[in-house]
Amino acid sequence: MKNFQYYNPVRIVFGEGQIKKLSDLVPKEAKVLITYGGGSAERTGTLDEVKTALAANGNRSVFEFGGIEPNPEFTTLLKAADMVNKHGIDFLLAVGGGSVIDGSKFVALVSSLTEDDSTVLRDKAWDALLSGCSTIDTAIDLGVVLTIPATGSEMNNGGVVNHSERQAKLPFRSPLTFPKFSILDPTKTLTLPKRQVMNGVADAFVHVIEQYLTYPVNAKVQDAFAESLLKILVEEGAAVKADPENLETRQNIMWSATMALNGLIGAGVPQDWTTHMIGHELTSLHGIDHARTLTILLPSVMRELKDSKKDKLLQYARNVWALDSKTDTKQDDDSIIETAIVKTENFFRSLGLPVSLADAQLDESAIDPIIKQLEAHNMVKLGEHGNNDLAVSRRILERSLTSAA
Ligand code: NAP
Ligand code: FE
Repeated sequence: MKNFQYYNPVRIVFGEGQIKKLSDLVPKEAKVLITYGGGSAERTGTLDEVKTALAANGNRSVFEFGGIEPNPEFTTLLKAADMVNKHGIDFLLAVGGGSVIDGSKFVALVSSLTEDDSTVLRDKAWDALLSGCSTIDTAIDLGVVLTIPATGSEMNNGGVVNHSERQAKLPFRSPLTFPKFSILDPTKTLTLPKRQVMNGVADAFVHVIEQYLTYPVNAKVQDAFAESLLKILVEEGAAVKADPENLETRQNIMWSATMALNGLIGAGVPQDWTTHMIGHELTSLHGIDHARTLTILLPSVMRELKDSKKDKLLQYARNVWALDSKTDTKQDDDSIIETAIVKTENFFRSLGLPVSLADAQLDESAIDPIIKQLEAHNMVKLGEHGNNDLAVSRRILERSLTSAA
């Protein structure tokens, strides 16, 4: 195992009816800006519930900023940051999923980038995003009410922001953007459209894979946690499809997705975020849902990198899919690995998700622009060894044109 520090200060408040705890969790005199998305928080009554809780037990001023898009837009977020400065907001409350939470983290950071204390300087904010926000040393406090289990953003300090005009979707991270708390009420996920439920299961699955499928470092705790999460997501993906109203299934999906990316399974192990980094370009160029970019790419990432990932792929086959070349004399290592990849693909298909560029109506003409964007965003040394260059990314995309299985 590699040396590591593990620090996660996010208070999780889990369970039905826990939104009312906002009255204790948000400072009593705070000037709060509630941030939310395109309307689901209003439609489902969650926004009203949040406002009622904030009105109790304190003297808070409450403002609202709605309309944060899926794949949160840079220009929208700067409008929210201007509002922060205009009203002297000192607490952001993100009500939504990864897009609203990530967007609010970005707002928390960039609202300090002003000259006259009101309007955020666009160029400075863009430069900050390009450098992953590492240069910003102050941020507004943030709390979360999670409405879609998927990204883990509720319990980590990272985010991703999209800039449509520049065709860029870029990650950032800051020690200042761990939420102070996140409320996870699984009943809130019952209003999700099926597509978003399945996207969430797949995103969490790929988060685990990208911290697990590298090379062995004898990290038994992290590996066992990761394998359990993968198996639970496979099991509960099927369960939620069969019985969408089952609250226990929703509880397990919600907590799995949070655990998948809160730093625990990633501590002390090599990581490979190739699938996410190429996926971001697919979203910014073609508007494909985040999780769907991942299910399109992951099988090809596994096939293209199967030699360098051989030991972990065999472990994945054995411990997640119960395949074993030692006991199955008919199958050698290569065919065991291919069977595990096909099982992964079939799992994604069973959730109604695409597994090739063709499934997303894209052909080889999509590849050159993606490679160009990867180069522009300096995504040229991906993978656990830093040797997935543009040629490797191109081969991954070529393999993804149609499904191999
Ligand atoms: P999302 O983009 O936040 O939301 C997807 C859709 O679900 C929206 O249209 C939203 O509608 C709707 N929705 C949310 N909650 C709902 C509910 N309870 N009932 C009905 N509809 C609901 O989805 P996400 O998958 O959580 O976030 C994706 C973003 O996170 C991407 O930009 C991705 O790159 C990023 N990401 C971040 C991390 C991280 O660690 N920070 C990791 C992976 C991915 P409304 O807009 O109307 O609310
Ligand atoms: Fe993701």
